[in-house]
Amino acid sequence: MSQERKSVPLIIAGPCAAESHEQMIASAEAALAHDVEVVRLSLHKPRTRPEWDGMGETGIPTLLEVAQMGVTPATEVMMPQDAEAVMEGTIAKDANVQLLLWLGARNYNHRVQQDIGALIAGQSQVKLMIKNPMQKDEAAWKGAVEHVLAGGASPEQILLCHRGFAPGENGLRNPPDLDMALRVGHEMNLPVIGDPSHSAGKSPENVMAMALKMANHRLRVNGNGNEIRFDGLIIEVHPNPEAALTDKDQQLSWSQFRQLQAAMQQLA
Ligand code: PEP
Ligand code: MN
Repeated sequence: MSQERKSVPLIIAGPCAAESHEQMIASAEAALAHDVEVVRLSLHKPRTRPEWDGMGETGIPTLLEVAQMGVTPATEVMMPQDAEAVMEGTIAKDANVQLLLWLGARNYNHRVQQDIGALIAGQSQVKLMIKNPMQKDEAAWKGAVEHVLAGGASPEQILLCHRGFAPGENGLRNPPDLDMALRVGHEMNLPVIGDPSHSAGKSPENVMAMALKMANHRLRVNGNGNEIRFDGLIIEVHPNPEAALTDKDQQLSWSQFRQLQAAMQQLA
């Protein structure tokens, strides 16, 4: 997984939540079959109200298995000890594997941010994606990056992720501000990944339309005609969306993902 800005956007695809060994392996196989570089397999799921909140540490050995299949696993971490356990079970066991961790929109505690920054410091196999906060608060988003850096992480390890802002309106779960997200990435000199799944939500069709919108979006910067765009997308794709344990309504099937890939290839 490379963090440099590339002409081909980074696609992160996989289920909202890792649900079982079988579902994780099926997702990794599908990701490999679709040339997806990073497979979303979140072991931790923050929930608005107490509900099933993910496989947790039981899924860590499968993250290593997936990484050794040749696709980089990505998971949310809620606490520094989650990040520590995932790193111990993956990159500490195999120097050849890569790992993508992320901090979610609800995780805006600066001690957590700094401690996770300290844990990944010097670990070049690990990248950390920082989602914008639930509410539109640019300073908090930038501050989260600064706290992670203050903990010791290097800018080369950080990616931003735009998942839109609450409250939902106009048929969107979390309406995005695409210009703002690209501007923040530009100002911080960090890649920006769009999250059409949590931004559009509601149905695969909604998510696919938002993915295309994000992929097409350009922001003119510097007044010299330079245009920037999203560096990648993170898309929820489930081997059997109807049976998904979380975010059932918005997850794509792999055949819908294929359609989306084809539509994205038509874009300039
Ligand atoms: C997620 O990506 O799994 C998630 C919970 O999204 P967010 O933190 O953006 O709400
Ligand atoms: Mn989700």
